[in-house]
Amino acid sequence: MLNIVIFGAPGSGKGTQSEKIVAKYGINHISTGDVLRAEIKGGTELGKIAKGYIDQGQLIPDELIIDILAKTLDSFQESKGVIFDGFPRTIPQAEALKKVLAERGQEVSIMLDLDVPEEELMTRLIKRGQESGRADDNEETIKKRLVVYHNQTAPLIDWYKQDGKYQHIKGFGLLEDIFAEICEAVDKVK
Ligand code: AMP
Repeated sequence: MLNIVIFGAPGSGKGTQSEKIVAKYGINHISTGDVLRAEIKGGTELGKIAKGYIDQGQLIPDELIIDILAKTLDSFQESKGVIFDGFPRTIPQAEALKKVLAERGQEVSIMLDLDVPEEELMTRLIKRGQESGRADDNEETIKKRLVVYHNQTAPLIDWYKQDGKYQHIKGFGLLEDIFAEICEAVDKVK
């Protein structure tokens, strides 16, 4: 089983690189952000709750997101592994992931930290907002999301270093160069 955590600030390219990883390694993809956006679109109760947090650039409470993760994981059959995109975002979520995988006789194979300078993140997110119309890609919400990232999510870097799974990836430059660095790291743990 190849279980990859793709990590990085908003705008670091997690979604783009995840698609390439899925195509190459044939594993399943869980993007908690995509799951939440689908719930909002579907007008579900969970979607209504999620929207309040997403529009404010805040994280959805851990219990809700951990429940979503476990359900999505159980929906995969005969899986070769999973790429976790946008999850975990807090230390309790990382602990929950470790537990959920251990209960299934598995573990995280590698955590890829896509490292991108802050100015580049802002530029990319503003551009994405103009192109895709994603409601939380406006300058005010982006700033809040970056603060949330630094306070609540970045501590996971040390957590995964201690867990022996951390891999730094230079997340800017040519898309193909970034992907090549990712593949080199993944092939070592495959
Ligand atoms: P993303 O598409 O991964 O950038 O996620 C968009 C928004 O969904 C985030 O800003 C959060 O409000 C929410 N979200 C996505 N994943 C998580 C998570 N693992 N924990 C808490 N909130 C999340």
